[in-house]
Amino acid sequence: MSAYDTIVIGAGMSGLTSARMLSDAGQRVVVLEGRDRIGGRMHSDRSAGFPVDLGASWIHGIEDSPLWDLVHALRIPAIEYTVGSFQVGGRPIENFDGDRRPMDATATAQWIADVDTADRLLIEEIAASSPGDTYLDVTERALDRSGFSPERIDDIREFFRHRVEEQCGAWIGDLDAHGLDEDAIVGDEVIFPRGYDELPHRIGAGLDVRLETVVTRVSRSPEGVIVHAGDTEYRADRAIVTVPLGVLQAGTITFDPELPDAVAGPLSRLGMGVFNKVFVQFPERFWDEGTYVIRALGEAGEHWHSWYDVSAVSGIPTLLTFAAGPFGRRMQERADAEIVADAVSALRLLYGDAVGEPLAHWVTRWGHDAFSNGSYSHLAVGSSHHDHDDLAGPVDGVLHFAGEATWGDEPATVGAAFYSGHRAAERILGRSVDLGEFAAGIIEREQTAGR
Ligand SMILES: Cc1cc2nc3c(=O)[nH]c(=O)nc-3n(C[C@H](O)[C@H](O)[C@H](O)COP(=O)(O)OP(=O)(O)OC[C@H]3O[C@@H](n4cnc5c(N)ncnc54)[C@H](O)[C@@H]3O)c2cc1C
Repeated sequence: MSAYDTIVIGAGMSGLTSARMLSDAGQRVVVLEGRDRIGGRMHSDRSAGFPVDLGASWIHGIEDSPLWDLVHALRIPAIEYTVGSFQVGGRPIENFDGDRRPMDATATAQWIADVDTADRLLIEEIAASSPGDTYLDVTERALDRSGFSPERIDDIREFFRHRVEEQCGAWIGDLDAHGLDEDAIVGDEVIFPRGYDELPHRIGAGLDVRLETVVTRVSRSPEGVIVHAGDTEYRADRAIVTVPLGVLQAGTITFDPELPDAVAGPLSRLGMGVFNKVFVQFPERFWDEGTYVIRALGEAGEHWHSWYDVSAVSGIPTLLTFAAGPFGRRMQERADAEIVADAVSALRLLYGDAVGEPLAHWVTRWGHDAFSNGSYSHLAVGSSHHDHDDLAGPVDGVLHFAGEATWGDEPATVGAAFYSGHRAAERILGRSVDLGEFAAGIIEREQTAGR
């Protein structure tokens, strides 16, 4: 008899969700995690006395969201922040035009209307696109049809490029024409003043998680699986692999026998993007009270184009900016001091000497992280939404896959990780798992443990 019913590889949101559900159902479960912590791409650095979310920060749309229902049931506090998805509207944005001039109300309204018009044309172009068309192809066709002046087209082109970089961590010419189809936001967006990784930590509390256990090989047979981590072997009836797409694509885990085409195909077609964060704290606020985002077009916004005010989390004036896609990959090769100096000089192009010397900063390099090898998955040109779900397997009835890249409805999110972990647990148990009871179980265990 195997020592375990199920081995879960990876202690991020997807792995912990499925492990918790299987364990609640009475299974013997072990979670093998390569890092010295759980949470994966949900990671809140609290070393400065307040949380800094180095991975995920937002729930993008809380309406009809089982993820939000879970957060709500666990009474995790959240702050409404409805501009987390590169919208032009939503909450107040300080926009700067290509000449570094703040846009007034009229110019802002015109800008929002221009982007809306282009987006409507874009939807038509996406619907009419052919297999193999890139997002760059369809945006160019939409812009051609817009009838706007070359200057207005340049601005929108830049906006589209930056939107793809932020949402997918990819160059616009590498993304499939359908790559942002699943990007709809329903309801408000929120961030987490206590740090978003509270969620996986509470789900994972009490599970048998083996940290610093790097899986290198997964062998399967009709009898079950053997998972190798260094010299140690773990045996179970089945396994759920939740390591990120970037790790699977790097080939650092050997599958024996090799994965069949049904899974290996999607694995090779989907893309893994890079999206890095830079948080900078300032001695004083130099942007308007009530501003959620600062956004610059043209030279000032060539690289550092969007700045999100996250001061509410620490009480100290703090801006969060992103480096994604090709620039994100280049940025992570540079030293922190150089990165921060570059970002601050971009801000000084807009606000001059009002921008004080930074008090502190945080810089991520997810593309260099061996346990993620990138930030999140996207629809590389030539792949399809089915590829995400096909990646889940199962293979030979014993090998399941979960994680954000395996969920076609809204990949690249915490929600996708949660729902895919839920799906894997349900497939293994052969019955549905009620999410209300799941949340109630977490609370009950916390009460029993006196937490
Ligand atoms: C910078 C950044 C910002 C983001 N912002 C948002 C956001 O605002 N909102 C949102 O919804 N989503 C966001 N995301 C995406 C979100 O964080 C992920 O989709 C989600 O956390 C993925 O969960 P997962 O369980 O699929 O994978 P992970 O959390 O990556 O879990 C996989 C686990 O596998 C482990 N592992 C890897 N290799 C091995 C191995 N060989 N052996 C053992 N263990 C291994 C890893 O260490 C990791 O703990 C962001 C991601 C990044 C990087």
